[in-house]
Amino acid sequence: MTSETLATSLPAPLTHLSEDEQLFRSTVREFGRDRIAPLVRQMDEEQHFAPGLLPELFSLGLMGIEIPTEYGGAGGTFFEAILAVEEISAVDPSVGVLIDVQNTLCVNALLRWGTAEQKRKYLSRMATDTVGAYALSEASSGSDAFALQTRAERKGDEYVLQGQKLFITNAREAGIFIVFATIDAAAGYKGITAFLVEKEFAGFSVGKKEDKLGIRASSTCELILDGCRVPAANVLGEPGKGYKIAIETLNEGRIGIGAQMLGLAQGAWNYAAKYAQERKQFGKPIAEFQAVQFALAEMATEIEATRLLVYNAARLKDAKLDYVREAAMAKYFSSQVAERVASQAVEVYGGYGFVKDYPVEKFYRDAKIGKIYEGTSNMQLATIGKLVLGKSK
Ligand SMILES: Cc1cc2nc3c(=O)[nH]c(=O)nc-3n(C[C@H](O)[C@H](O)[C@H](O)COP(=O)(O)OP(=O)(O)OC[C@H]3O[C@@H](n4cnc5c(N)ncnc54)[C@H](O)[C@@H]3O)c2cc1C
Repeated sequence: MTSETLATSLPAPLTHLSEDEQLFRSTVREFGRDRIAPLVRQMDEEQHFAPGLLPELFSLGLMGIEIPTEYGGAGGTFFEAILAVEEISAVDPSVGVLIDVQNTLCVNALLRWGTAEQKRKYLSRMATDTVGAYALSEASSGSDAFALQTRAERKGDEYVLQGQKLFITNAREAGIFIVFATIDAAAGYKGITAFLVEKEFAGFSVGKKEDKLGIRASSTCELILDGCRVPAANVLGEPGKGYKIAIETLNEGRIGIGAQMLGLAQGAWNYAAKYAQERKQFGKPIAEFQAVQFALAEMATEIEATRLLVYNAARLKDAKLDYVREAAMAKYFSSQVAERVASQAVEVYGGYGFVKDYPVEKFYRDAKIGKIYEGTSNMQLATIGKLVLGKSK
């Protein structure tokens, strides 16, 4: 059998990338190294993306990876979005989550649920200059997201939204927000409806920005909807079907957070491996001590296992196969690995790992969020438990 027939008759290994994927990854990797890496420390300190970075992300096509070319997007795959989040997060997980929320939550929700008019209007903007945000959480509803209290009341050909959202990623930069509110509190989750809210709509404002432990350049803010007027044409999907949109988009989003944590772990490992080969103690590089070598080997093994979980979930999604269990596993496992690897990377650096002049302490701070947003680790385990016990797959 020739290698050509082998290649076509066997399923491709998960980490084998097509030529297009390889080219895409190397472009993104180069961009991260040349254009983002020099800005990371300052952006973390200033809690702000560098001016000029967002337009570059748009012009490289990273903010509209799956947006069809007819709307000005890159016409790529979900797997490519995952590769981009991984590569960028290896340099800065704050920029990673900006790209992630845009592609895996906002664009995906519009692609799946948007009307032809909503796609024409919003996807073309999101491909060129408009950041998206996804607003589900509130002060008293996080894990129990469908207990949300933001109300939407129909008045003529508009809805009037009243309430507040909390912890909304990208809020400072965003021009379009997917906001979940209830049109009928008595109907429970069946009242929840998704709305496309533009930043300029009357009654909408962005409130307090959180001062965070990690991913500090990424904005996380409160949203205030004070009699916010939204055209009825801006309901995303059907009224009362917002719960379904939330569940299904977050299932995809979890693979994105898996990719963010995978990239973070790889980024921390890259620095630790380089440092271990340069730093000398007892007359030789510390990488020559078996204890340090074993630590790096274990980290590399965990990263590879994470990559397989994340890539498999993403490829399942592109293949239109079931991926909910795999996505939850990828998110759950990747956030554990990111925390362990970043912590170990700090130790490989010794005292230098603990100070801000070196890059690994930031990865350690950034890793913590992986176990919290888009469903805490307990929520992932609840999903996995239900799926592995309730039915075979
Ligand atoms: C930096 C950041 C960015 C965010 N970005 C967004 C965003 O863009 N959009 C958005 O809508 N939200 C966002 N969030 C909100 C995030 O999704 C929530 O914080 C998360 O879902 C957890 O909700 P909570 O904070 O209310 O914690 P809680 O739900 O109060 O959970 C507290 C603890 O209780 C546990 N717990 C709760 N219920 C159960 C249960 N049934 N079984 C077992 N354990 C349970 C949890 O696992 C957790 O350990 C963001 C949060 C942060 C910090």
